[in-house]
Amino acid sequence: MEKIAYVNGSFVPLGEAKVSILDRGFLFADGIYEVAAVLDGRLVDNASHLARLERSVGEISLPLPETTERIQEIQKELVTRNQLANGMVYLEVTRGADAGRDFAFPKGVKPTLIMFTSEKDIVGAASARTGIGVITVPDIRWARRDIKSVALLAQVLAKQAAAEAGAGEAWMIEDGKVTEGGSSSAFILTQDDVLVTRQNGSEILPGCTRKAVVKLAEERQLRVEERAFSVEEALAAKEAFITSATVFVQAVVSIDGKPVASGKPGPMTRRLREIYVDFARATAV
Ligand code: PLP
Repeated sequence: MEKIAYVNGSFVPLGEAKVSILDRGFLFADGIYEVAAVLDGRLVDNASHLARLERSVGEISLPLPETTERIQEIQKELVTRNQLANGMVYLEVTRGADAGRDFAFPKGVKPTLIMFTSEKDIVGAASARTGIGVITVPDIRWARRDIKSVALLAQVLAKQAAAEAGAGEAWMIEDGKVTEGGSSSAFILTQDDVLVTRQNGSEILPGCTRKAVVKLAEERQLRVEERAFSVEEALAAKEAFITSATVFVQAVVSIDGKPVASGKPGPMTRRLREIYVDFARATAV
């Protein structure tokens, strides 16, 4: 069965889903995206993703072509049309296609909205049992990483370097501290059982999974500190992990080839993963 995508008001076979070469997403990376997980055919933590979408488009003065209520309806319809049980819905909104290539915002151009789905067994992923290695790379991104922009070249290069090194993710480093993963938030558990993850700000994307995990941990009386940490601190930690919509909570067992603690996923990471999966199942829409 050919997959169905959504393009500007229509559901079309993926192979026929097209936008103009003048689309500003293509020419300038003038667009915003979101990725929400799908578990048992339902959207995980989608209100949080749609709230971040609204914030991101607001920060670049890009009007959404549909309400967030309608966007959720379209996401759900796409899940149904693709009979998607587990995976994700990708959505992207760009400033649309003008008649040429002027940098300044075009007038009277309707934003582009596209969506597609992909399958992934997030809960049963083998990497959840084994953990992943990460490599470190300099964080060469722009200064507004809080905006979920489609300008991802720095992350493409970081994750390619990780793939070439046989690692599952790249941790980006700025001023001696970890900012975040190429497509994930970074956490450590210190020797005195404090969960540490970098504070939100323009240096990182405010991860939806990060936010949920921090809340779930605090509700269980775990100590959470939102501050930057170094690679040295991570290597001296009890555990390390990443969070994102497409991995949930995923153990990090080595950094640049050096083991984190025993080099195996730790009990707190496993527990937080279970807690997150329970939360995801209980609240999915
Ligand atoms: N940080 C970056 C740079 C990301 O690209 C992502 C997800 O793609 C995340 C963090 C995790 O965010 P979320 O948990 O909302 O998926």
